[in-house]
Amino acid sequence: MGRTTRSTCPYCGVGCGVLIDTTETPDGPCITGVRGDPDHPANAGRLCTKGATLHLTASPMVRQHQRLLQPAWRADRRASFQPVDWDTAQQQIADRLLDLRARHGRDAIGFYISGQLLTEDYHAFNKLARGLVGTNNIDSNSRLCMSAAVVGYKQTLGADAPPACYEDLDLASCLFLAGTNTAWAHPVLFRRIEAARAARPDLKIIVVDPRRTETAEFADLHLPLRPGTDVALFQGLLHACIWEGWIDRPFIDQHTEGFDALKALVRTMTPAETARLTGLKEAQVLQAAEWFARSPASLSLYCMGLNQSSSGAAKNTALIHLHLATGQIGRPGAGPFSLTGQPNAMGGRETGGMATLLPGHRDPASAEDRAAIAALWGCDPLSDRPGCTAVEMFEAAARGEIKALWIACTNPAQSMPDQALVREALSRCELVVLQEAFGGTATADFADILLPAATWGEKDGTVTNSERRISRVRAAVPPAGASRPDWQIVRDVAQRMEAVLRPGADSLFAWDRPQQLWEEHRAATCGKDLDISGLSYERLEAAPQQWPFPAGAEQGRARLYEDRRFAHADGRARFVVRPFAMPADRQDARFPMALSTGRLRDQWHGMSRSGTVPRLFAHAPTPALHLHPADMERRRLKDGALVRVTSRRGSVILPLQSDAVLTPQSAWLPMHWGSEFVGGQGQLGVNAVTQPAFCPDARQPELKFAAVAVTPV
Ligand code: SF4
Repeated sequence: MGRTTRSTCPYCGVGCGVLIDTTETPDGPCITGVRGDPDHPANAGRLCTKGATLHLTASPMVRQHQRLLQPAWRADRRASFQPVDWDTAQQQIADRLLDLRARHGRDAIGFYISGQLLTEDYHAFNKLARGLVGTNNIDSNSRLCMSAAVVGYKQTLGADAPPACYEDLDLASCLFLAGTNTAWAHPVLFRRIEAARAARPDLKIIVVDPRRTETAEFADLHLPLRPGTDVALFQGLLHACIWEGWIDRPFIDQHTEGFDALKALVRTMTPAETARLTGLKEAQVLQAAEWFARSPASLSLYCMGLNQSSSGAAKNTALIHLHLATGQIGRPGAGPFSLTGQPNAMGGRETGGMATLLPGHRDPASAEDRAAIAALWGCDPLSDRPGCTAVEMFEAAARGEIKALWIACTNPAQSMPDQALVREALSRCELVVLQEAFGGTATADFADILLPAATWGEKDGTVTNSERRISRVRAAVPPAGASRPDWQIVRDVAQRMEAVLRPGADSLFAWDRPQQLWEEHRAATCGKDLDISGLSYERLEAAPQQWPFPAGAEQGRARLYEDRRFAHADGRARFVVRPFAMPADRQDARFPMALSTGRLRDQWHGMSRSGTVPRLFAHAPTPALHLHPADMERRRLKDGALVRVTSRRGSVILPLQSDAVLTPQSAWLPMHWGSEFVGGQGQLGVNAVTQPAFCPDARQPELKFAAVAVTPV
């Protein structure tokens, strides 16, 4: 007897709706297929290769052999893990966290979580960290993904709220894609761009990317700028708009602050100077400026190419400035629109599950905001000590200041930059708890306790996609083995800790279903820019909805700022003066190449899920360092030759692949392979060479630029 369950894809931030088909078997219900949900507004039935093969990641074979099925622990990290029951594992975690907190203080404990957790899971972890343990040391792998976009929106528009929506792709007359290979990273959105182009051949598409990617191939104008020079380009475009009279002066005067100071800053960024810094031609700069400013509606899409940078916030604000200066915002088809990498990075931002945020887009530096959350939660006052962001958390652990790390749904021993430092940090911790759905990730090598988590197809909750749309995630089958939903695992440890820390008090964690967590989260949004007081699980059962959705609303708001009132207290947007700066790493005679890392079309993150599907390796079966043919010829290297890639932090050995989409003097490496595939035993994988230097405002590390040398092995 078959059944269909409506849910959401767990891979990227497009947030496609899926229909999960299940069949009853003697061993219980089994996921047998996945189809695109024709009624979901994000994808209207479309799926990419990863989404369409999701059922294979939930096959009986994968559930049995590649999942973590049982809690396990070990007293000595050189020993193997031994299975243990849930009660023992959870009591041991509670006891050890309480002991470390008593001996070293609350900030000796850190939580490193994930943009793939559901909103309800985020809320549980955040309440445990801030409301019970009393630390702001909670950050997410979304720090590696979206924190520059958060800062960019807040500094310019006043709130972390993407103003546009997917429908704007159908309505724009100019698409400006910067630092996004949408064709590979957000394939279903790219199908929508293709459809928009087919419907409106006069649509102008500009792609800013050092590589001539599949997305760039589709463009009318490709700007292959020198890696790391985006701010120079955007300032050059603004200069051109000012000089040519393409700015919207009435809009600037009525709705913004700070334009004249920025105008003075970009005075020297002439087309000639922009061309010198970016390596582009003056004519390309002028053409892009004219299309952007003079098209009836310009929509910019941007992603990791801007965010993963030591000047990520500057790149985001410089792009948003173009929209503000030309009035290309708050209208159908116009506005800056960051594409979220992970399926619920947005939910993490909404719940404040990051060191620099509090629930409901509040600020941990604000005493008023901290008091508001403590009152909502009924807990002790929240700590006013700033929490560690991702890189800072591992630096603090490497210094011996953080003694315990609870890591959930992410694999920092593969995905964080500067793996030597990350592994030293994990080794130095007295307690590493790893909560994971899949077994055998690199981080497990450093863990003391493994907690098996339920995953896609097995758990209930919500996620928010790039266009602020909240969708339900639903269980189609029971969790594999002894695995449990993440929020339940947190609840059970938290209740053990509060028996000691708050004896006799009502539990802060008295939940028995995800809806209760979501309703606590909803209460924190009331009166804020992301207000969802008018939304309920029942309403989400009927259809996914965009925020804001205040009480009394009949539907969410598709696009923001249509009334020209921005989220700063005075209603005016801001221009932020920041000079152009080169990346943190310097190319020189020893490290002459600019290395960038990125996503392949058919893989996801560290491949713990997508790597269970053989057919997803057909596109790129093995890791390889991509070099321009001219650079290979100069070094007398051939395809397949093994080379050592060396940065100031470490090295990896990989085969070479000739790739004409690159500009000379640059290199590209897929991000998905860890030490088990790259470099072999004792090596550190792709992120041995990447850069931990981060943006001072966003604290997002510079995964898109490392100066490297490439030498034959
Ligand atoms: Fe899943 Fe993203 Fe593909 Fe949609 S585009 S099916 S959300 S991976």
